[in-house]
Amino acid sequence: MSEADPPRTNVVIVGGGFAGVGCARALAGHDQVQVTLIDRNNFHQFQPLLYQVATAQLARGDVAYPLRALFRDAPNVSVKLAEVTQVDPATRTVTTADGSSYGADVLVLAAGSAANFFSVPGAEEHTLPLYSLDDAERLRERIIEVFEAVDREPGLIDEGALTFVVVGAGATGTEISGALAEMITDTMTPEFPDVAVDAAQVVLVDHGQAVLGPFSEGAHEYAAKALDEAGVTLRLGTGVTEVGPGHVGLSDGATIRTRCVIWGGGIAAAPVAAHSGLPQGRGSRLEVEPDLTIAAFPGIYALGDFANIPDPAGASLPQLGSVALQSGRWAAKNILADIAGRPRTPFDYKDKGIMAMIGRNAAVAEVGKRHHELHGTLAFAAWLGVHATLMTGVRNRVDAFIDWGSDYFGHRGHQTLDRSEAARIDWGDDPNPGDDHAGAL
Ligand SMILES: Cc1cc2nc3c(=O)[nH]c(=O)nc-3n(C[C@H](O)[C@H](O)[C@H](O)COP(=O)(O)OP(=O)(O)OC[C@H]3O[C@@H](n4cnc5c(N)ncnc54)[C@H](O)[C@@H]3O)c2cc1C
Repeated sequence: MSEADPPRTNVVIVGGGFAGVGCARALAGHDQVQVTLIDRNNFHQFQPLLYQVATAQLARGDVAYPLRALFRDAPNVSVKLAEVTQVDPATRTVTTADGSSYGADVLVLAAGSAANFFSVPGAEEHTLPLYSLDDAERLRERIIEVFEAVDREPGLIDEGALTFVVVGAGATGTEISGALAEMITDTMTPEFPDVAVDAAQVVLVDHGQAVLGPFSEGAHEYAAKALDEAGVTLRLGTGVTEVGPGHVGLSDGATIRTRCVIWGGGIAAAPVAAHSGLPQGRGSRLEVEPDLTIAAFPGIYALGDFANIPDPAGASLPQLGSVALQSGRWAAKNILADIAGRPRTPFDYKDKGIMAMIGRNAAVAEVGKRHHELHGTLAFAAWLGVHATLMTGVRNRVDAFIDWGSDYFGHRGHQTLDRSEAARIDWGDDPNPGDDHAGAL
């Protein structure tokens, strides 16, 4: 920068998900801003494909992309690997776990979601959530480990070793239930000839009465039927009351013995929201104005899953990749408008619809603003298209994803245990596993 150049606006972005990367990419190359993108990982993780990692269809590298590589050609964007622990909204300064601090002219908070366990006793300690790549790998290792254990000791089936309980029949719970049932049939059955794979079961529990609640009535029925055909047992109208190391307690008094409880029960803003000194609303998310700034805190934006973004109907936009990506780009537009002395504009979300993939040939999509409903192969094609677009929003190459998509109908995963020590289960650690077991469902 020469002496004559005006000072740059210093933008600090917390979180390199769809929202943070979307914002940083839209600011890249604009010399009036200097951007610092902070994430606790040095990669962007593509959450919509975590199921495929958990069920061994995709590898870590297919869904993680180095943040530094993304901004290699953007000299005004620098990436910092650090965990933000505190936000001082008055000075727009963030502090990281290693004691560093970053002050900003404009602070963009986009730290995403974490599992919300709703204070269910034992849920945080004994369930496996699916919100990060590490979560997905831990789940995959658990699934493989229980099969390996039963292969060595078939009696463990009576202790629930092959019973998989999924909590929450929203998109996360429904998709992982379908993927898991498919993995058991297509991959575990041929690979574990000495295991009575027929004894394996996936149980999907939800206190509501519908699968895929936010979708239409037709989608509820379609998804329930697809799960049933895949062999998933639905226990709707039933809550989870507690979770132990080897069991799940249900609101109807039943106990299910299991060594694998997958938590898809709900999300809340990432924990740093509680250390931001900023107003939190539903799901602990930060409340934002239509232009994505936080009222009474000039120069602070909150985006994506971290924010309750108002929609024109007066509700909040859903926690979706497309909302996050578009909100990131819109925030960048408003930051540049502010610098240029132009007014900021309200976020105008272009609704791509909602979709869920339940298994091979079984997907449901409500496409476009009017949520036109599609099922089966057409819905799968829509799912692929929307996700390829999302992926190109954060990185330039989508080849692994497209390969996976086109290969999906004939694809089988590989069941390698990367860290078999870490995956090992202590089968004697539940003093109170309950009287019921898988057969008593
Ligand atoms: C299993 C799963 C499947 C999904 N499937 C779909 C789908 O099919 N379609 C769809 O549209 N949406 C889907 N979603 C939702 C979608 O992934 C999210 O809405 C989207 O990722 C939100 O983007 P974001 O940038 O707000 O947050 P995230 O993508 O979560 O990114 C947040 C980033 O912040 C970082 N971070 C968090 N805390 C800190 C901290 N304290 N310090 C530093 N960095 C921090 C994290 O490491 C992360 O990189 C799915 C979500 C999950 C979990």
